[in-house]
Amino acid sequence: MEGEEGKEALALQVAIDEELLESCEYHGEYYDPRATDLESVIEKIQDGFENNSRLKSSFSLFKELKEALESVYHEHSGNDKCELCSERNL
Ligand SMILES: [Zn+2]
Repeated sequence: MEGEEGKEALALQVAIDEELLESCEYHGEYYDPRATDLESVIEKIQDGFENNSRLKSSFSLFKELKEALESVYHEHSGNDKCELCSERNL
């Protein structure tokens, strides 16, 4: 993937890796397990950003990654568990 869509996918992957968001193993829905917070994750990845070739290949500036991460987080952080699982009481 290239362009904005690829950036969003990568930001989502970072959010998962850092436990900012989780993805339901049954439904693939994203939710916020409240394991950490956005500010801590941004601080943490900022430290290693310049040496992270995977991130640097898509985001030339840390600011871009930060904005993409904020965007995916706000999109998916409304629930603290998978909505579909909650409905089914799984
Ligand atoms: Zn689910």
